[in-house]
Amino acid sequence: MTTFPTDEPVLVTGATGYVAGWLVKELLDAGITVHAAVRDPGDTRKTAHLQEIAATSPGTLRFFKADLLNEGSYAEAMAGCAIVFHTASPFTTSVRDPQRELVDPAVKGTGNVLETAARTPGVKRVVVTSSCAAIYTDAIDCSKAPGGVLTEDVWNTSASLDYQPYSYSKTLAEQEAWKIAEAQDRFKLVTVNPSLVIGPALNDRPTSESFNIVRQMGDGTMKRGAPKLGLGVVDVRDLARAHMEAGFREDADGRHIISGHNTNILELGKALIEKYGDRYPVPRQSLPKWIVWLVGPIVGDISRKFVANNVDVKWRADNTKSKRALGMTYRPMKTSMEEMFQQMIDAGAFGK
Ligand code: NAP
Repeated sequence: MTTFPTDEPVLVTGATGYVAGWLVKELLDAGITVHAAVRDPGDTRKTAHLQEIAATSPGTLRFFKADLLNEGSYAEAMAGCAIVFHTASPFTTSVRDPQRELVDPAVKGTGNVLETAARTPGVKRVVVTSSCAAIYTDAIDCSKAPGGVLTEDVWNTSASLDYQPYSYSKTLAEQEAWKIAEAQDRFKLVTVNPSLVIGPALNDRPTSESFNIVRQMGDGTMKRGAPKLGLGVVDVRDLARAHMEAGFREDADGRHIISGHNTNILELGKALIEKYGDRYPVPRQSLPKWIVWLVGPIVGDISRKFVANNVDVKWRADNTKSKRALGMTYRPMKTSMEEMFQQMIDAGAFGK
């Protein structure tokens, strides 16, 4: 396997984020100079953890100000970089205006970053943090995929502005990335397509939607049970490794499903029983589909279409390519869940 040298700077967009934090750490630990593009370099609440890591690692960290919606704002951060890791994109499900809050930053931001990369001498690789959300919308889509399993050949065709707009934003953004990549010959595009990311955060106040889901397993929301809502999960540290492999392996190519486990929400909750079941109201049993169907729209803003297409529906994705092409191995789900939950307890997420 041939790898790119590590003596040239690399850019990480959205460096303050949950996923990006562990990637920046891997890069700094490898002695690499990291250009961290963030919206507000002066906001120490969002950057202090990165400064702390840089202080004790062999790499060098430099902050740059950039915004997905400000055209050209990544040019300064990208100058002199060989590899661009584009992780920045809003990941939230509670939005009022999906076009403005999700689709515009995801799609225009991808255009902004990749068009700049196409103009920047020295950039040879762009790794886009896409998502399994660019492959499917609902667990039921797995059964419609060839062989009943999601692969890198599958694209999300069912999300829209009105239904699962986050998935829609990630689909359009990845399509935009491939369109731009094909129209230039400066860099090669490689995408990582993670399923739901779990595991501890490096930042103090993680805003990623991943934390909202796991929080409900300790705050009583799921004390009567959890739906068997099919999904995949991957540890955030395994995902950081996948970014490194996608960035530095010269022969990395195309899309990569990065997902350790085909599972469901109840199984995620059950992974917490052994260590936390006596102290926290973690889910133990399955919430029947008809109950979720009935009360979901009332208590949780969960549409009946979503319930019908996801609850008691098995999620299946094939991670073979990630193992073969990127050498991926995946941590046990229980380890990731316990470490994430413990961190939330320590941060007072469930009261003292
Ligand atoms: P996160 O912690 O919320 O990070 C999102 C990052 O995007 C933050 O650094 C945020 O910067 C930045 N961002 C948002 N809007 C921006 C804008 N207008 N201009 C510049 N930066 C902006 O979420 P995450 O989970 O780490 O997500 C990182 C990436 O992984 C995203 O592309 C997401 O779609 C993808 N992903 C995540 C999961 C998951 O389960 N977590 C699964 C699949 C894919 P600020 O700090 O300034 O807000």
